[in-house]
Amino acid sequence: MKADWVSDVLSGNRDHKSVELKGWVHRTRGNKNIRFVVLRDSTGSVQCVVKRDVLGDEAFENAASALIESSMIVRGEVVPTDRQHGHEIQVESIEIIGPVDPERPFPITESAMESADSGETEFLLDQRHLYLRTSRMTTMLKIRSSVFGAIHGYFRDLDFIEYQAPNFVAGAVEGGSTLFEVPYFGRTAYLTQSWQLYAEAAMPALERLYTIAPSFRAEKSRTRRHLTEFWHAEMEIAWGSNDEVMAHGESLVRRIAKDLLDDRSDELQSIDRDLNLIARYADNPYPRMRYDEAVETLQGMGVEIEWGQDLDYSKEKILTKDFDVPHFLTHYPKIAKPFYHRVDPDDGNYVLCHDLLAPEGYGEIIGGGERTWSEEEILKRIDEEGTPRDPYQFYIDVRTYGGVPHGGFGLGVDRVCAWLAGADHIREVIPFPRDSRRVTP
Ligand code: ATP
Ligand code: MG
Repeated sequence: MKADWVSDVLSGNRDHKSVELKGWVHRTRGNKNIRFVVLRDSTGSVQCVVKRDVLGDEAFENAASALIESSMIVRGEVVPTDRQHGHEIQVESIEIIGPVDPERPFPITESAMESADSGETEFLLDQRHLYLRTSRMTTMLKIRSSVFGAIHGYFRDLDFIEYQAPNFVAGAVEGGSTLFEVPYFGRTAYLTQSWQLYAEAAMPALERLYTIAPSFRAEKSRTRRHLTEFWHAEMEIAWGSNDEVMAHGESLVRRIAKDLLDDRSDELQSIDRDLNLIARYADNPYPRMRYDEAVETLQGMGVEIEWGQDLDYSKEKILTKDFDVPHFLTHYPKIAKPFYHRVDPDDGNYVLCHDLLAPEGYGEIIGGGERTWSEEEILKRIDEEGTPRDPYQFYIDVRTYGGVPHGGFGLGVDRVCAWLAGADHIREVIPFPRDSRRVTP
């Protein structure tokens, strides 16, 4: 175990005391008689001052030989300074635990990190297991952890039950074109695209349920916001209308923004994220707009879009560039959505659904709505679509035995992380991103 953390030193409550720090060499410089070793642990980094006249020749040479990412135990006194971070360690001893061979130095250099060259991007993705240690990635992973925590917190505070669905499934939720086929003992199974259909089966048992789980989609086109394996926070409520489901989506996203402000302001600032934006997303209501209005707005902007088309990323990007907070788009055309979306009883051309679009050009982060809930209607919708009934028999049964109005949504956790962190690309916020070209490392 560790006696002291770098964060203890930086907080000031170890000033003038002896500490023992365990960590990795982040950077090192100096001359023949004094070395400045920046030591990193999971909580931060601090400069350690290593002097020949304090350690003696042999120990000094040994310490000076430690290359970047060598692991070590450092003992010394914490001294407040005027320099960066305000604290440094006057080192009394250094023990190298995992040395780095000078023949094989740490491959990620600062210039590789800063280069926008696409070759460097591929290189950094190949080195992802080592890239995780960089301060930018570590920051993203901490933000990500807080986003997961906020989601669990939101639902648990409201007495939702966390519920798990299978990942091997027989049918599609989101359409066949993004289904991953898996050979399954002489048959074909698929990786789940969503927890939803199995959550609906548990809806009459639990009434309020949620999950955070991976979903899988064979997204062929590579975009800044699609992964083939992504983390999906989904919820389902019995007796819930489209409006009630939307209210949960809004409260959840605002809670995530608020928790990030409370817990991760330092991290957000360290990656130059404007905290005023996050505060705005936490504090303000999210307007609702019907699909038709969005289409008219886009047409007014000269974008080519026909009524009835789903909005793809390029269109959402244009639409959301000038949004100051997330907006809900509701009432999509029935022809744009799968059978489980409930048709609007007031106008059969539309379904009672919503997408939540994040501002700054990020676009969709939530998709949800009311479900087709009567047996008669679900059979009609399945048949209309030409979808085989067989894989969905369990889904139909939920309606046959005491069907009730219900609804829910799915939130793309990685997309929310990318948006709130201000990342250019979704792969910046997940440790090992998966897309159509990459399953390694
Ligand atoms: P898109 O049109 O952007 O592909 P979708 O309509 O397919 O999204 P839904 O099926 O409604 O998305 O899924 C719910 C949420 O899951 C989305 O709002 C999004 O946040 C997230 N999501 C969907 N597909 C992906 C993906 N391939 N990678 C990351 N997140 C995704
Ligand atoms: Mg999709």
